[in-house]
Amino acid sequence: MPEVVLERASYDYDDLKKRFFRIMDSIGGDRIKNNSRVVIKPNLLAPAPPEKAILTHPLVVRAAVEYVLKKGARPQVSDSNAVGSFAKILKESGIREALKGLDVECSEFRTSEHVDLGKPFRKIEIAKEALNADVLINLPKLKTHTQMLLTLGVKNLFGCIVGMKKPEWHLRTGVDRKMFATLLVQICGALKPGFTVLDGILAMEGQGPGKGGTPRELGVLMGSRDPFSMDTVVCKMLGIRPDSLLTNKVAKELGLANGTVSVKGDMPEIKNFRFPEITPVVFGPKSLHRLMRKHLVQRPVSEADLCKMCGECWEYCPAKAISKDKKKERVRFDYEKCIRCYCCIEVCPHGALSAKETFPGKFIRRVVKKDG
Ligand code: SF4
Ligand code: SF4
Repeated sequence: MPEVVLERASYDYDDLKKRFFRIMDSIGGDRIKNNSRVVIKPNLLAPAPPEKAILTHPLVVRAAVEYVLKKGARPQVSDSNAVGSFAKILKESGIREALKGLDVECSEFRTSEHVDLGKPFRKIEIAKEALNADVLINLPKLKTHTQMLLTLGVKNLFGCIVGMKKPEWHLRTGVDRKMFATLLVQICGALKPGFTVLDGILAMEGQGPGKGGTPRELGVLMGSRDPFSMDTVVCKMLGIRPDSLLTNKVAKELGLANGTVSVKGDMPEIKNFRFPEITPVVFGPKSLHRLMRKHLVQRPVSEADLCKMCGECWEYCPAKAISKDKKKERVRFDYEKCIRCYCCIEVCPHGALSAKETFPGKFIRRVVKKDG
């Protein structure tokens, strides 16, 4: 039975390092061999400081690097960022400073290799370094996600899709959350990370995963060899059914997880964790889905006061649903084209975007909740 190990932790580095090492030792860190090449994959999506709880905390990254060095292996910290240069992310996230003096390579994923995921997606390009590493250490952040509910161990590996291929895959899976969850699960299955250690010390609740979310201290660090089991335990800790997270459900259906997990350590009781509202309202005949999506599913909106017209959102939007309203100097959304992936919210560097429920969507969600 897969094991998930929990530790109560803070960002006091001496203590954090001790706990990180203990988790790794307990989940089989000895598999990291002398001189092996270890790729460490934190969440480094866009420039953001640690207190925003958007990225994996720099001290968690440092602890991972130090662990790998202690094993005599060669660490490489990498991700495929969506916004800004990788150098800027390393600087703003505090990772550059945290890794000072350590023998570690930091570079963004640039080259890909084709992998056959099987049905329904078949061939997909995944970062070569992640696929060919002797060991892959997955370092997700515990955050809410307006489209997928939470982003944890499984979803973090979507960052191993290089550059603009990421929004392309968002577009191919479209508005279908289950389809996107299937893609995430299959990518995770192809990468088979050796270890996953989740930074849930300062987590994010509310309308995550970008600057619209609210940091919340949970004080948890947890590790496992199996990211599906890790995500299952996080759901239990936050007081929801593991199947509420679609990636867990799909992993079970695909036979990659069976939901049984052994937990080592004290699981804290976390009360009133605020999840994003997800409207389960695209139903009935397919011909009506477009209309329903337009009017019922929550949509990205911009706050004019915060928007700096930097263009990151329209550059990144996979559906090309955002344009610049030249006359009014504001962003404009085409809600018919929008596939509700909420990538724009995640990449906006100024926190100017959020997901807003439509009036009929809110009404239907309440009815569905009442009936459910
Ligand atoms: S909404 Fe955000 S990303 Fe888009 S133009 Fe405005 S500030 Fe830039
Ligand atoms: S507008 Fe935002 S939510 Fe809609 S498709 Fe573009 S990035 Fe995704």
